[in-house]
Amino acid sequence: MLGTAIAAVESPPAGIPRELARQRAALISNVRYHLAFTLVPHSDTTVGSEELSFTLRPVAPVLLDFRDGTVTSLEVNGAPLMATDQNGHIELPADRLRGGENTVRAQFVAHVAPAGKPITRYEDQDDGTEYIYTLFVPMDASMAFPCFDQPDLKARFRLELIAPASWTVISNAALESESAAGPEQRRTAFRETLPISTYLFAFAAGPFRRLDGSAGQPGLYVRSSRLEQAQREGPEVQQIAAEGTRYLSGYFARPFPFPKYDMVLIPELAYGGMEHAGATFLREQSVLFRTAPTRTDRLNRDILVLHELTHQWFGDLVTMRWFDDLWLKEGFAQYMAYQTLASLKPDENVWTRFYGSIKPAAYAIDSTQGTTPIYQHIPNLKDAKSAYGAIVYSKAPAVLKQLAFVLGQEHFRDGLRLYLKGHAYTNAEWSDLTHPLEEVSGRSLARWAKMWIRHRGMPQVDVSWSCDGTRLRGLSLSQHDVLGTAETWPLATQVLLEESGGERVRLRVELGTTSAMVPAAVGKPCPSFVFANDEDFAYGRFLLDPASRATVIGQLGDIHDLFLSTLLWGSLWESVRQADLDPRAYVALARRLLPAETDQSLTESILSHTATALHRYVSAGTRAEFVSSFESMAADRMLHDKDQDLRITWFRALGALAETPQGLATLKDVLAGRLSVPGVQLRPLDRWHLVTTLIALRDPHAQEAFEAERARDPGGDSPENAYAAAAARPDPATKQKYFDDYLHNLSRSEDWIAHSLGAFNYWNQSTLAAPYLKPALDALPEIKRDRKIFFLVAWLSAFIEGEQSAEAQAEVQEYMRTAKLDQDLRLKILQVTDELDRTVKIRAKYR
Ligand SMILES: [Zn+2]
Repeated sequence: MLGTAIAAVESPPAGIPRELARQRAALISNVRYHLAFTLVPHSDTTVGSEELSFTLRPVAPVLLDFRDGTVTSLEVNGAPLMATDQNGHIELPADRLRGGENTVRAQFVAHVAPAGKPITRYEDQDDGTEYIYTLFVPMDASMAFPCFDQPDLKARFRLELIAPASWTVISNAALESESAAGPEQRRTAFRETLPISTYLFAFAAGPFRRLDGSAGQPGLYVRSSRLEQAQREGPEVQQIAAEGTRYLSGYFARPFPFPKYDMVLIPELAYGGMEHAGATFLREQSVLFRTAPTRTDRLNRDILVLHELTHQWFGDLVTMRWFDDLWLKEGFAQYMAYQTLASLKPDENVWTRFYGSIKPAAYAIDSTQGTTPIYQHIPNLKDAKSAYGAIVYSKAPAVLKQLAFVLGQEHFRDGLRLYLKGHAYTNAEWSDLTHPLEEVSGRSLARWAKMWIRHRGMPQVDVSWSCDGTRLRGLSLSQHDVLGTAETWPLATQVLLEESGGERVRLRVELGTTSAMVPAAVGKPCPSFVFANDEDFAYGRFLLDPASRATVIGQLGDIHDLFLSTLLWGSLWESVRQADLDPRAYVALARRLLPAETDQSLTESILSHTATALHRYVSAGTRAEFVSSFESMAADRMLHDKDQDLRITWFRALGALAETPQGLATLKDVLAGRLSVPGVQLRPLDRWHLVTTLIALRDPHAQEAFEAERARDPGGDSPENAYAAAAARPDPATKQKYFDDYLHNLSRSEDWIAHSLGAFNYWNQSTLAAPYLKPALDALPEIKRDRKIFFLVAWLSAFIEGEQSAEAQAEVQEYMRTAKLDQDLRLKILQVTDELDRTVKIRAKYR
């Protein structure tokens, strides 16, 4: 039956349809690739050869995936075959195949390009060198060599690379041998890998330098021109990876699953990192800081390193069968990165940071009409790009934190151990994980999984309570779907009752229906306020009831529990976004409490919300009332705070908030060296941020500052930084020039464009940017098709969130009504437009 099904496909569909993958997985096993590529600097192509062997049972025609490149010769079981391209596939007819072992030999040519190809060439402007690297996720290995490009046909790979003798080559496995291969050329053979998916196979080549690190630490590779910086900042990365490996080996009760581990810093990598088995690629800019780093920046880098490291078990050792379970690997990698960091650095308030980094991003999408379930139906791997986003990277780990709270930490861990043990070096689905979790905990997860994994959206949880004199008479929780359906979620939370003396009562409450009384609260001392998601175990919108909110606004400065005060600030900000609290009240509270705030991460978050309120939500008049006091607070703390991280945070805030001539004069003093941030060596990008502000706000000396900065730092990232800063020029000709460049300059780096979008849509330039809203929307289908996964959302957010008016809102609505859009794009627009809708609502209500 399976065989006839494939044979019946006359012209196979493009991409990898789910059904094709199912059929192939049932027929094919024991796959091995022996690949060789010749890498030539500055060449647009690479010549490759391949020997592919696999077991086939029963005999049936087989489709190999290969698109974009050219097959120059093909041989099936020793006999030549004419290769014809069929929508990105090559058909191997049944009469050329046999039951059991088959061998395919191919010679082919694949493309290499600076952008838009999975074999990417990067030219280092500093020293004229070149680097080549691959990035195949989710189904682009088949643009580099003929293969079965689906995650559940794991294969053993042997790779040989012929490259300039001066280059270093890195791949999933360790080196086996090296030999001369012609003048100035070297052939490097790697050992055979363990079974891995095609999207996890990778190589990188170029004049990389290796930081060996001490014994037991992974290798770290960096391009030559960044060696010095890597020598300063790299050892911490190797150390956290080594400590993380020890922790995760213990937690999962399984040693590191591959024979070696390296990390390769790739300039302009389209993701923060990619977890190739045994050879993680990390975005260089996320590891080697371009601005003077704070402790938060370092910890975020640790999270990235630990996220990719966790994938070696969760993703690489056990791999999702299909990209509909993408969340499974991403959710766990993110959750376990925090779990690991919390264990390695217990003094860093890691779960408070988890709340700050993860929850707002998840809620911002999940409370919109554009949200999707965590589990996403992917009918064809070519649609897998749409599964990437905050639901997978932020909601999934948040929901896993809730699951660990529901099941208990030990049951959670033991279930994971069973899962990894049962599916090592193979593939698994979500249900393969629920079964062991149910087994060890004795709890059914059917309803839990239905609502949290298969259903979209989230609950709002409200608390109501009353006192009888000094005692609580009653307390109840209720929930409703923020999107207005009648659904309810099974959830467990910890309710905090704050007593007037500062004593705290914490109650665990499970809520599976619309509402529930909390009998354990009755008779407790009457609280001064109640917060229903203490320690952030639950997932949902938790606003303060009116009495609690009034108390919290009055007493927030006296709450010294950082986790609690961070959660309360977060809840107040949610109320602002709900148009339920005047943004002025939030900004006024920030102005009152920030002077005494000593936590860097909380300061950064309050400042970022303050900037949003000032630049988007309040009137120009209200902003003018507040701005100079924030400017002077920022200038003062930047110069005098005793904590260096806070000095950097306030320096950044000054750059973001400065607007008055006096504020801008302070920026110019810093640029000219008349003022400095004590103990902090500003980096070029720090300075460029100040230049951007001067340009955007029409400072009379902006052009001078721009030229001075260019002269000061001609190499390195300067051309990119100058390109991004100049996008802030507040004139129509600049906007026109940049917009044309974005869409029509094929050699323009995607990274440069993404970097400049914020400046193009600077907060004070919505009128100038408005003519580009519609063209930006019109370009979405081609952007989705041609650009890397995260670019689309960056593009959409920049242009839609660059606007604040009801007119812009109407324009987006009109576009949604008339444009022919696929469902995925429609949802993405709805996700992003939510912030514009809120802005319009808040401005209408409070100004
Ligand atoms: Zn990941």
